Parts: sequence; structure tokens; C-alpha cells
Amino acid sequence: MARLDGKVALISGGARGQGAAEAILFAREGAKVVIGDLLDDEGRQIEAQIAELGGDATYLHLDVTSADDWDAAVQTALDRYGRLDILVNNAGIGGTGGGLENATLESWDRTLDINAKGVFLGTKAAIPAIRDAGGGSIVNISSIAGIIGLGTGNPAYAASKGAVRLLTKSTAIQHAPDNIRCNSVHPGMIVTAMTEATLADPERRKYWDDNIPLGRLGTVDDIANGVLFLASDDSSFVTGSELVIDGGIVAQ
Ligand code: NAD
Repeated sequence: MARLDGKVALISGGARGQGAAEAILFAREGAKVVIGDLLDDEGRQIEAQIAELGGDATYLHLDVTSADDWDAAVQTALDRYGRLDILVNNAGIGGTGGGLENATLESWDRTLDINAKGVFLGTKAAIPAIRDAGGGSIVNISSIAGIIGLGTGNPAYAASKGAVRLLTKSTAIQHAPDNIRCNSVHPGMIVTAMTEATLADPERRKYWDDNIPLGRLGTVDDIANGVLFLASDDSSFVTGSELVIDGGIVAQ
């Protein structure tokens, strides 16, 4: 039996990067997957890729800052697949670096809107449906930037990911009686579109090469495997916890 047989998952930001890897892995493990993102062409390609693998996925346009979009995404899971067991709050933006004094109010608001408010709205929309399913799992994608100040020339990003870390624990405690678990994942430096510019800069690339104890950058599959564990019943006694997947950076 596959690890997510019979389960229905909703993944925000699933059109590319880590979210797409999670959608494909979840489908391989037997889940029906609803993918929400702003990138409609890429999202539909992931939906088609999953169908080619013999899985079942539905893409829909989702702006995580919109409560109405979240309601529609949860309703799509219920209409199409009859239930919702898993929510992965993965959508996020990296924003600009440059330090606190150069940060603008606009970039602060946008980053907190997408990275923190988006997780709040997604969780709020999904809880009733997951409760109706008899419980389930919410996985929130934070960052090592939500734990330590290392490498974060972007105060809004750090603040947003710190908010996700504690919102996770608050959700875990409040909804443990509903049998809804909630955990956060803290990726280190993962190769995706989000980190392309950083990794293309030789100086910043060297910084990361020198500071990852396992001696390599992370892949989307490194993260998807951890998210699968937290989404599945393999982690049925795990809630309110932090899974750091970073090659050892924060252990130093
Ligand atoms: P990515 O840019 O490839 O993927 C992010 C996805 O979120 C994109 O598909 C994007 O369209 C979507 N998105 C952005 N704003 C949205 C919105 N308002 N509504 C819906 N979708 C939206 O980057 P990624 O690395 O796959 O990032 C996934 C998550 O991992 C993010 O939360 C990110 O902050 C976090 N993270 C990434 C790294 C890394 O090194 N790549 C490290 C730590 C944490």
C-alpha cells in the first residue's frame, strides 16, 4: 500500500519548485492532489504530468492572499474528490535582500501578505474540511530563516517565516482535539527558481558552499520527502514540531 492511499491533498504554490515536487510525490504515493498557484500554465503542466504517471490531480488558480480563492480551492477538493486530508502551505516569495534600512514598506507588506497571511488564510479555510474527514495533517513551509538570522538580508522574509513557525504550533495545539496535526518544515538552501539569482552570484554561492556541513545544496526532492513524512500517517504522533532540512546549517 502506498503511503497516501485514499487521501486528498491541497498544495499551494504547486506549479513549480518544491510544491510541484510534493504534488508529484504525493500522487505517486496514492493521493489525489489539488494544486493551487498563480502560474496557470506551469500548474496545468504539473496536472498533466501527474495524469501521465497514472495519478489524479486538479490545478486551479489560487492567490494565497485571497480568502475567496482559498474557499474555492477547498471546495474544489470536496467537489472533485469528496474530502480533504492534507494541506501543504508551500506558496511563498523570497523578496529582495539589501538589509533592514533599505527595505520598503511595500516589500514588507507583500512578503508578510503572501508568506504569513497566506498560511493563516489557507489553514482557516481547510480546517473545517479536514475536521470533517476525521482529522489530517497540515504542513507549513517555513525556512531556516524562520529559526536563525543567518543569510537573511531580508527582514520581511525572516519575520514572515518566523510567523509561520509559531502559527504552526498554535494551530497544532488548538486542533489536536480535532486530530489535525500541524508541523513546519525549514528548508535550507534549495535549488529552485527562488534561489536562482543568489546561486548565480559567485560570492553568495561561495558563502553557501562554505557553510553547508553536508557539502551540497538541497534539492526539491530532499524537501518533498520530509513533507511526505509529515503528511502521511508515518508521523501520526508528530505535531507542533519543526523539521529542519538544510544539510546541517542551523546545527552549527
Ligand atoms: P518557487 O519560487 O519555485 O515556488 C514558489 C511557488 O509559490 C511558485 O510556484 C509561485 O508562483 C507560488 N506563489 C507565489 N506567490 C503566490 C501567491 N500569492 N499565491 C499562490 N502561489 C504563489 O520557490 P520554492 O523554493 O519552491 O519555494 C517553496 C517554499 O519554500 C516557499 O514558501 C519558500 O519561501 C520556501 N523556502 C525555499 C527555500 C529555497 O532555498 N528555495 C528555502 C527555505 C524556504
